[in-house]
Amino acid sequence: MDSLLEARNLQVHFRGPNKEILKAAEGVSFEARKGETLGIVGESGCGKSVCCMSILKLLPSPPAIYAGGEMIFDGRFDILKLNKKSLQELRGGRIGMIFQEPMAALNPAYTIGQQMREAIQLHLPATKAEAREMSCDLLAKARVPDVSRVLDSYSFSLSGGMRQRVMIAMALSCQPDLLVADEPTTALDATIQSQIIDLISSIQEETGMSVILVTHDLSLVSETADSMLVMYAGFACESAPANEISEHPLHPYTKGLVESRPSSRVTASRLPVIPGSVPSLASKPPGCPFHPRCAYAKAICASQFPPETAYGNRKVSCWLYAGEGSS
Ligand code: SF4
Repeated sequence: MDSLLEARNLQVHFRGPNKEILKAAEGVSFEARKGETLGIVGESGCGKSVCCMSILKLLPSPPAIYAGGEMIFDGRFDILKLNKKSLQELRGGRIGMIFQEPMAALNPAYTIGQQMREAIQLHLPATKAEAREMSCDLLAKARVPDVSRVLDSYSFSLSGGMRQRVMIAMALSCQPDLLVADEPTTALDATIQSQIIDLISSIQEETGMSVILVTHDLSLVSETADSMLVMYAGFACESAPANEISEHPLHPYTKGLVESRPSSRVTASRLPVIPGSVPSLASKPPGCPFHPRCAYAKAICASQFPPETAYGNRKVSCWLYAGEGSS
């Protein structure tokens, strides 16, 4: 399957309050293939949203510093090098995006219809009436009931699930080749979560678009994604086909995430947990950033970052596997 988006050695930094450099993404690489879903997984603060926002260069710079790497789209150009006008065309055009909290992305001062019309007319030569008709179709595709009422409503009068459906409809307005979904179900209850994920999957089947799904929920990615990238403290720990990672995790952090998932196969009264928490950007430990929490840590782990090792179609950054892989 061809690559649609390829992040190569992405490095995104911020300047801290004392002018120190805080590294939010350190040499992260990933690939979204045409028609497939890539899941990016990790705890809060591991850098997955920074990577996700960098796909469309959405982080304001400053304070963000795009310190290195490339974001190659369609094998033709580097998004990180595009000018403002080209970026504007790409956003909401060939790449659609939905966010964790749709309330923050929708403008409460305008009706849903006005906002959808603006999004459509920004990229397509549609009249007001045509844009409204397209909005109706898009909302219907996103399984929104009573579309006329919703078009004339303001975002604050809709439920969380309905707002997220509106966001999906807006993101689809220009038939994107890639949909980037940053924690799209975190703010929703379990029933609505599964409806939203089913909706994205069914639209993907119909349109053939690629999806990048960013989430802390490993089970969700295992069920829906084709491939998976696990991140920790701004680094890529492990990447592989999603089913292989969830069945046979290699990296100790991934193992911890897999073992701490609730599952019908787990009979213990308490689920295992990964001790400690993700370090802040200002206090990342040297060496492997996971070593203070890792049950397998060796002496070298505290001083040197592990090299990436290839295992066929898998990649893992851990001293346990260094020099043992195959390419
Ligand atoms: Fe654990 Fe060392 Fe592997 Fe890091 S490199 S995950 S500390 S074994």
